[in-house]
Amino acid sequence: MTERKTIATLPGAIAAGLMCACPRCGRGKLFEGFLSLRPRCDVCGLDYGFADSGDGPPVFIMFLAGFIVVFAALVTEVLYQPPLWVHAALWLPLILLVTLGPLRPMKGLLIALQYHHRAAEGRVGQREP
Ligand SMILES: [Zn+2]
Repeated sequence: MTERKTIATLPGAIAAGLMCACPRCGRGKLFEGFLSLRPRCDVCGLDYGFADSGDGPPVFIMFLAGFIVVFAALVTEVLYQPPLWVHAALWLPLILLVTLGPLRPMKGLLIALQYHHRAAEGRVGQREP
């Protein structure tokens, strides 16, 4: 039996997306691999075929991660002038942390927002009812 309780509010959709949960029921899992989606929700049966976050998650994360890492590297260089190996030892792990860490929640968030706002590609020749 499938459940039909839906998430109606934007904060609820955002929370479900950040938790990588189904954008309709908020309880089913969205991902089956690191970034690959399940075919459908195992709780409410929502078909995830509509979900296409495209290049959105990496773009947002590149901006965020670039700001964090470059700012931290500049402050460290100005204050301490460490040798280059210290920069490599500090910023390479930080780059992995701030890029791979939020990638999955960001993809879940964008898919949840896509579902909440019923966003889709424009189509030529079809009118809205
Ligand atoms: Zn669901």
